[in-house]
Amino acid sequence: MNEKMPVLFIGHGSPMNAVLSNEYTEAISKSTENIPRPEAILVISAHWETDGTFITSSDSPEQIYDFYGFPKELYDIKYKPTGSKKYAQIVADELKELGVKLTEKWGIDHGAWSVLRHMYPKADIPVFQMSLNRLKDEQYHYNLGKKLSKLRDKGILIIGSGDIVHNLRIMDYDTFALPFDFATEFDNYISGSIEHREHENIIAYQKLGESAKLSVPTKEHYLPLLYIAGLQEESDEVNFIYKGIQNGSISMTSIKIG
Ligand code: ZN
Repeated sequence: MNEKMPVLFIGHGSPMNAVLSNEYTEAISKSTENIPRPEAILVISAHWETDGTFITSSDSPEQIYDFYGFPKELYDIKYKPTGSKKYAQIVADELKELGVKLTEKWGIDHGAWSVLRHMYPKADIPVFQMSLNRLKDEQYHYNLGKKLSKLRDKGILIIGSGDIVHNLRIMDYDTFALPFDFATEFDNYISGSIEHREHENIIAYQKLGESAKLSVPTKEHYLPLLYIAGLQEESDEVNFIYKGIQNGSISMTSIKIG
């Protein structure tokens, strides 16, 4: 019998965090210390959007360098865990009435490996991903998260990797730039809604108005949080792994639930 796994939301920010060492990278490195060793890790990454929902099923997934114009040291990082056909099949079976399908056409993108290299540096735990269906609304993503809940009893660690606030248009290239007011407001509002299990606020985040619009100009970095909210149970403790904003408009807030 496996111990019930927590679920994590990790704010991943700039790919450069993969090679940096700062308060944030230290915090996510330490975050795995009190988590039972997973049988496998399922990542829902902001960087994999598809028409339909897919799960990677290759036992040897490709590492994807899905960013442009970054220094060579980032392309030199090798993070090559195995995948897991076995666990991908278990998840697909759990979701079969929703038409979720397996695919070998994606591997491990930087939404996954840039954080996992800090969290599980040995790359000795199988990793697989589930995509974001770009055709669906917030409620769908939240409900799909709920349907993953049995996996927590099967030793699977589910990680949503995105950013609560993600505005590249107005970001400051200085990592230590002071956060914009809208970013702080939205980050606090959403974090507080997780803390108090106010999922309606998380699903209907647009009701916060201007600060929501500026924090979530496109949805893909926000959506992974909906899966984690869907998985949050009443008895789960909420702990902030890290709370903060880089580059003025990129939230690095990372949360452990359970
Ligand atoms: Zn990203």
